[in-house]
Amino acid sequence: MKTGYLIDMDGVIYRENQLIPGAVEFVQALSASGTPFLFLTNNSAPTPEDLAVRLKHLGIHGLSARHFYTSALNTADFLSETDPGCTVFVIGEGGLLTALHERKIANDAIRPRYVVVGEGMTTMEKLVKAHECIERGARLLATNPDNWCPVSSEKTRPGAGSTAAFLEASTGRHAYFLGKPNGYMFHRARRKLAEIALSEPEQVVMIGDTMETDIRGAMEAGMQSFLVLSGSTQLEGLGDYVYQPTRVLQTVADLTEEIKTGKASDRLNSPVYGTNGTSAKLGQRHQTDVFALHKPRPRPAMTK
Ligand SMILES: [Mg+2]
Repeated sequence: MKTGYLIDMDGVIYRENQLIPGAVEFVQALSASGTPFLFLTNNSAPTPEDLAVRLKHLGIHGLSARHFYTSALNTADFLSETDPGCTVFVIGEGGLLTALHERKIANDAIRPRYVVVGEGMTTMEKLVKAHECIERGARLLATNPDNWCPVSSEKTRPGAGSTAAFLEASTGRHAYFLGKPNGYMFHRARRKLAEIALSEPEQVVMIGDTMETDIRGAMEAGMQSFLVLSGSTQLEGLGDYVYQPTRVLQTVADLTEEIKTGKASDRLNSPVYGTNGTSAKLGQRHQTDVFALHKPRPRPAMTK
């Protein structure tokens, strides 16, 4: 069966500017076997070209912009498909500005159709401007729902979700979130994967480290989902979730042999599943859980 892979990046391929052991061999096996794959990220700050360079510096060569699909591209695809010729006021960085520019979506700081919030720095002045635009009728969109994003094992930074939450609070309007786990992200990613593969893969698997974006989105889009424990999720936390991944792996290195031989493992799940149990530790805060701001979250965000 021809399988295509959608692969999250942070916590799956690298962490804190360090490659996950075995990630190079994993990507090499995908390329050498002609397996279609696409990196899928909720980070709307970089362009696909930036991401290819970033992976090159980390030691993964031979990738180009077409191997990446970001929440910024997803937002630009969404607007150009549902409201071509619309105008936007943007709070965001290069990846988002470029994606919108390429779809010929113009900036308007006076009376835009949408306020679009992405990852990155902002200022109170920009937030006030966005607030005023929404007051004048603009609709609020965010590239992704992540309230915080891991920077290192010691540190997180505010994500696009928290910037959108500011504007939701000040205007009383609700934002619409693109990116994972929105089905539109998976729908467009699947289409892009088919373009790369020159035909539709019979099966698409999402590999990710975050339950509420990678695993939830894949499940809702009818895809298989492989959770890797090299990022933000610990095995003990799995009991927290209604939805579960198809398989649980330590890292992507667990898949390399399978991709090389073309034979699916006869193990239903990786050995990690079942050895420690999945006893629930309830009440942890999730990256997108805006209703649980009062709850303590595990620190550091990246747990290993
Ligand atoms: Mg991740």
